[in-house]
Amino acid sequence: MSGNNTLDDKLATLVFHISPEAHITVDKERCRSCEKKPCLICPAACYQWDEGGNALIYNHEGCLECGTCRLICPLDAVTWSYPQKGRGVVYRHG
Ligand code: SF4
Repeated sequence: MSGNNTLDDKLATLVFHISPEAHITVDKERCRSCEKKPCLICPAACYQWDEGGNALIYNHEGCLECGTCRLICPLDAVTWSYPQKGRGVVYRHG
């Protein structure tokens, strides 16, 4: 496919004004007992598990602010709010 139509092409156009304060926090102890790990559906791959599958690794810097992780977590382990004003992802710019 040519042009700017792939998801990666579209993601590459985004601008992030990263907040020094994380707008996502996760109770990683709760995550240890999670079997299905639905947070891995994150379109920005903000959630990953270490190689042994023992520890959740997450970041807020690349968050697309879709809110999915907050809604889908079966253990209510994700605390999520929008980044502080003027921070976060910018979908249209220029
Ligand atoms: Fe990923 Fe969406 Fe959660 Fe951001 S809000 S971390 S993009 S699932």
